[in-house]
Amino acid sequence: MSMHVNPMSARARADLPAPPALADGVALFTDLDGTLAPLVDNPGLVKPDAGRRRMLARLQRVLDGRLAVVSGRGLADLDRILEHDVVALSAAHGLVRRSADGVVRAAPRPAALDDARDALEAFVRADRGLLLEDKGPAIALHYRRSPAAAEACQDLVRRLATAGDLLVQQGDMVIELRAPGPDKGDALRAFMAEPPFAGFMPVFIGDDLTDEHGFGAAADLGGFGVVVGARRPTTALYALADVAAALDWFDAASRAA
Ligand SMILES: [Mg+2]
Repeated sequence: MSMHVNPMSARARADLPAPPALADGVALFTDLDGTLAPLVDNPGLVKPDAGRRRMLARLQRVLDGRLAVVSGRGLADLDRILEHDVVALSAAHGLVRRSADGVVRAAPRPAALDDARDALEAFVRADRGLLLEDKGPAIALHYRRSPAAAEACQDLVRRLATAGDLLVQQGDMVIELRAPGPDKGDALRAFMAEPPFAGFMPVFIGDDLTDEHGFGAAADLGGFGVVVGARRPTTALYALADVAAALDWFDAASRAA
């Protein structure tokens, strides 16, 4: 074993502190999967949850409605899981956004995504472990239940992206084909320009690679990011170990006077 210590990697390994308790004046932006809900093999298995629903309702009251869920899922899927309780939502990693007043803005779906969908459907039919998720301006190919297919999935999606002038979005055991358009950071910025968020300090919490855009946007606007889990490097200033720790932090905030 080498005796030399690289100070950069030592810093990268040093863990980040837990975030402070949520104070007055905060606008909260949170991811869903891997943050408010445990990661599962099949995203369709994430169901409404009575405890989470009560906690989010308390948080909405404490924050005077300054709560938005910013997820990679599609909008209808988020409404299914959150039981239509959260109006301010960003879906498909920022490509779709519903303001607190209920107005939905979505990046257009390029025709190339329809051609790509045909190819992806044929590919998925050959492997029962693979799962396709169509979110409108993005299509996700999940391979968590078929990790051996990772390379083939990556190759196919990259090839379709090149052919159709689309973008590739990497995730945790998932790769997506998406239209060009806003990311989670752009979604945060757009929310922060509108009521009830404008004028407050943004805090963005999440575990995804795409949440880094949210952490950066929150920092740019005077707030900070909180990363859930062990993924490093990160631009988040704080970390929580896992979903359980995140739920404890949310719960404490929701019970603040
Ligand atoms: Mg996540």
